[in-house]
Amino acid sequence: MKMRQKRKASALGTLLAIFILLGGGYAIYKILHSNEFETNRPVIEMPLERFWNSHHPFDINISDDSGLKKVIAYLSNGSERIKIADVDFKKAPKSYRLQIRYPKLGFVHESDTLILTVIAQDISKWNFFKGNSNVKKARLRIDNQKPDVFALINSYGITRGGSAVAIFKAADANLKELYVETNFGKRFQPIPFYKEGYYIVLLAWPITQKRFSAKVIAKDEAGNVSRARIGFFLKSRKYRTSYLQAKERFINGKIADLAEDEPELTKNLSPTEKLKFINEVYRQTNDALIKEIASKVDHNRVDSFEIQPFNPLRNGKVVGSFGDHRYYWYKDKSNIISESYHLGIDLASIRMDDIIISNPGIVVFANYNGIYGNMLMVYHGLGLYTVYGHCSTLLKKRGELVQAGEVGAKTGATGLALGDHLHFSTLVQGIFVRPAEWMDKKWIQTNIIDVIENAKKMIDK
Ligand SMILES: [Zn+2]
Repeated sequence: MKMRQKRKASALGTLLAIFILLGGGYAIYKILHSNEFETNRPVIEMPLERFWNSHHPFDINISDDSGLKKVIAYLSNGSERIKIADVDFKKAPKSYRLQIRYPKLGFVHESDTLILTVIAQDISKWNFFKGNSNVKKARLRIDNQKPDVFALINSYGITRGGSAVAIFKAADANLKELYVETNFGKRFQPIPFYKEGYYIVLLAWPITQKRFSAKVIAKDEAGNVSRARIGFFLKSRKYRTSYLQAKERFINGKIADLAEDEPELTKNLSPTEKLKFINEVYRQTNDALIKEIASKVDHNRVDSFEIQPFNPLRNGKVVGSFGDHRYYWYKDKSNIISESYHLGIDLASIRMDDIIISNPGIVVFANYNGIYGNMLMVYHGLGLYTVYGHCSTLLKKRGELVQAGEVGAKTGATGLALGDHLHFSTLVQGIFVRPAEWMDKKWIQTNIIDVIENAKKMIDK
């Protein structure tokens, strides 16, 4: 009896010991796997080097898995060191934004380099309760010098729907961004011109905009910004409005054919709804493709721009003008079913006539493009593009170089064209512009060539 009781008691003891061991082990496991003993250093997010100017304090993000205990920061100018931050945290935040402010003027000299040191410590009990710490250093290159920007020369005027050129100077030891900002949100990209520090840009006043203004914006790595207005004499221009009858032949012919390009979107539309869809929605898609291709600019330095007037058809007669606001009426003149803007000129001569590419360039598109049918698109440099639509045959492939005077395609009536004709468009950095200017020898001479030649004289002086 006694033996049995003893055995029972010792069994109970063993069980208890196992429980204690298990519990203790679990507690140690819990402690080691909690954040209390984490072994990761705080993370200090800052680059090894950055530019800095006196107007822009900047932030550094510091974070830690267990929480931050302390953050200290110093700035050193080589001979002197100042403490710029010393924070003891009560609530151990997981992250903290440390703002670095510009120190007193005597501490920094122009184009000096400062060393920023940031030390962070966490609340972990690791490392015999001392926690983990991290130290990071950054070189701050002081630059309070604004970029040197100066509008040198530009075309005297710009016409609504038209083009112009501007040449300016922009110099900075650490230039980061350079563009021409407009009142309508478009940023034009300048191209290096002639000599170091000079730039050239073709600008365009979109036909849809009532006003036009442009200024050069130059930003350096430290955040210093300079602006220079480019002054133009603004010439407003009225564009035609025309009313066209949507005939059955047109609706059941061309429109019905083009609607088959988008069967899913047009299957439930009535014939006149199809016309609206093709003339507006589909046109917009086709125009968007052209604009996207034409917004690309090369950045090769330009010394001159020997552009000749474009004359794509030898005996072409103008049968449709640029900027024409076209309304389509159906059955009755008051029943307007669709409208659109004509963003090129239409030229007609004989059927399947040679389309001449008047200036050298590279073919950037040679394919079918909806309402423009078989279309050729050529880049001539300086952000200038030409488009040839409704072709019967394309004689060039994408990527091919064309010489001035070469035949690029044959006229036709593909896409939204009733008879055989050429739709000719010109674009500057993705904006449709008046082809008439680029077809006019005198306009080109006065507004582009002379300006460029005068700029070179001014730079060489
Ligand atoms: Zn056209």
